[in-house]
Amino acid sequence: MRFDVITLFPEVIEKTASMGVVGRAISSDKIQLKTWNPRDFTEDVHRRVDDRPFGGGPGMVMKIEPLRKTIQSAVEFVKESTKVIYLSPQGRRLDQQGVNYLSQFSRLVLLAGRYEGIDERLLDDYIDEEWSIGDFVLSGGELPALVLMDAVARTLPGVLGHECSANEDSFIAGLLDHPHYTRPDVFDGVAVPDVLLTGDHKKIATWREKQALGKTWQKRPDLLEKIELSKHQQSLLDEYIQEQNNLKS
Ligand code: SAM
Repeated sequence: MRFDVITLFPEVIEKTASMGVVGRAISSDKIQLKTWNPRDFTEDVHRRVDDRPFGGGPGMVMKIEPLRKTIQSAVEFVKESTKVIYLSPQGRRLDQQGVNYLSQFSRLVLLAGRYEGIDERLLDDYIDEEWSIGDFVLSGGELPALVLMDAVARTLPGVLGHECSANEDSFIAGLLDHPHYTRPDVFDGVAVPDVLLTGDHKKIATWREKQALGKTWQKRPDLLEKIELSKHQQSLLDEYIQEQNNLKS
């Protein structure tokens, strides 16, 4: 999958994306990344990329002409269809479903805004979709672009070391992830659950499924309303709730 990121701070994208899971995916060519700086598409000596807003008021707006040229150049750079995405607090809120949808495309051009954002006239003709990472406002779209890229990368075949390791992650199957433990087996007097030391993979899988259901019930009951539990899952959840009630009484 290919990402082209339009940003006034290419080093933020390149440096961060060179690390961890995404960094390894780039090194092994499972992901291709190129940054595009609108400043390189300016024609004035000062290489200005911002301008005052019509109507007055505080803040600046990203200049329309260099931005349009950057988008066009990024889109045309590879002869392959692409979605042009503007990271924006006004966009559709990103969640795992959105991530799965975005991961179907072989190429995404991500536009990271700055200042008060982009000229509204670019939205209709040059932007296919707007995506937000939450109902808050950041100073720039670089972190949202990195968030989107990381989340999409994790869903791509072969990007995570273990082929199955994303399957149990929170939200993938509509539930939160089960708890994780590592050595030592006793820490500050608290032992890891016995079942995890049995080596019995079937029992461990059942315990993990029950914990995932229970954690979701405790922390995000709204998620349980969106999925239909199997009879087996419902009885595991009932057991979990019973165990919690026993602990309290
Ligand atoms: N004036 C804009 C508004 O209120 O809708 C906010 C502009 S913000 C200061 C600058 C840039 O940060 C935006 O153009 C966008 O690219 C990015 N940004 C800020 N918050 C974001 C969010 N929650 N999700 C995605 N992008 C965001």
